[in-house]
Amino acid sequence: MKDECGVFGIFNPQVDVAQYTYWGLFSLQHRGQQSAGICTADGKKMRSKKGKGLVLKVFGKGFDDLQGHLALGHVLYSNAGLDQEINIQPLRVFYDDGDLALACNGTINNAGALRHDLQKRGVIFNTTVDSEVVLQLIACSKKPTFEERVADALMQLKGAFALVLMTDKKLIAVRDRYGFRPLCLGKMEGGWCVASESCSFDLVGAELVRDIKPGEMLVIDNGEKEPVSKMWCSQMPDNCAHCVFEYVYIARNDSRIDKQDVYAARVNLGRQLAKETKGKFKADVVISVPDSGTPAAQGFAMESGLPFMEGLTKNRYVGRTFIQPTQVQRLNSVRLKLNPVRCVVKGKSLVVVDDSIVRGTTSAKLIKLLKGAGAKEVHMVITSPPVVDCCYYGVDTRDKATLISTRCSKDEICKEIGADTLNYISLEGMKEACTAVVPNDLCCACFNSQYPDGSDKVAAKDPVPVWLED
Ligand code: AMP
Repeated sequence: MKDECGVFGIFNPQVDVAQYTYWGLFSLQHRGQQSAGICTADGKKMRSKKGKGLVLKVFGKGFDDLQGHLALGHVLYSNAGLDQEINIQPLRVFYDDGDLALACNGTINNAGALRHDLQKRGVIFNTTVDSEVVLQLIACSKKPTFEERVADALMQLKGAFALVLMTDKKLIAVRDRYGFRPLCLGKMEGGWCVASESCSFDLVGAELVRDIKPGEMLVIDNGEKEPVSKMWCSQMPDNCAHCVFEYVYIARNDSRIDKQDVYAARVNLGRQLAKETKGKFKADVVISVPDSGTPAAQGFAMESGLPFMEGLTKNRYVGRTFIQPTQVQRLNSVRLKLNPVRCVVKGKSLVVVDDSIVRGTTSAKLIKLLKGAGAKEVHMVITSPPVVDCCYYGVDTRDKATLISTRCSKDEICKEIGADTLNYISLEGMKEACTAVVPNDLCCACFNSQYPDGSDKVAAKDPVPVWLED
């Protein structure tokens, strides 16, 4: 199963932009560990360096000749079939007005159809990634200005996208009309930056200014002057659809997304779960599945009055990309990352707080480990409702058949994972935990099958390019 992607852009003539982008990407590493790339520009020329693996692996030995005063970076966790060098972002093309680079987080659900049309018109694609259509649509647009060409391209897209474009001279940050995926603006001495998550700003010494608005296009072509804001989208929906799973699992605890502190949302999720499960089981201690489960477990402990202890220690140096499938088959892969703290769990009745059950394999392995370390009982509490449907907005849960909740009832899942009890938070409870976001402005499609923009139907009809077919 795959995560998301992370994007980072900077315009600052006073700093080494490649170095700052490296730091920005470093703090977004949790959003993608398959490849990393940085593109820089100096007003005349664009340069790029990309590679497979973690940010440290790709850039640890230096940035070659990545000079300039603006830069764009990307960390990727691609879908199956797309794990090829040519697909590493930022994507770069040479169109009629010069260099153009793009870094995108999201999924364009009509990319197959758009690609097909463009190919019929003679356009040649260089990659197999969905976001290349954005570059090609910009290149083909007949509108007079660059910003209008971008808007023209964006109007044709269906799906989720938070993307940053870079020309030789400027950065353009945009978010889809629903604001599915996060993107925010930061101010630093001498310049501006944009990032998928605000945690990047702390590392580069920038301050979070605000989130990019759904449907907004922000043009940054000066280090001092305010970026120019335009709405690229004239037809805005009544509600936004910010991905609730960012708060539950994806984002880092220290980020703030759409005015909501992720840590606070997770504490609230834990508190809410404690309220909803009151009297359902007896336990001695609350433990978490780190990292997203930790604030939630603290919230659960605060609300229930039970002590919170570290029952699982995480090995922080496990890079997923370095684990070979054959190795994984030979051992309990969860044990690579998490190990029970015996003196905490032995003989205890545990509340184990985790963010989600998707396929159910992680929980089953985890409970086996805890029971093997002497836990008397394991009461699983999950800070999201059962995942019952696919995500078409950038989280790779597209294969419905792999979702355990589509096949099994709650009791069956409890039995299958080997827990003594299993409880999920309610849909309403989860939404309310995000106190800074209006509940109707959250996308919960993977939990309630309500797709705000009808992307499920678009994706079902979208032709799959032949090279991606099984
Ligand atoms: P499983 O039920 O075995 O599929 O594993 C669920 C666990 O995987 C969750 O507790 C998360 O820690 C993690 N997870 C959830 N969604 C994703 C995702 N889209 N990509 C990677 N890991 C995920």
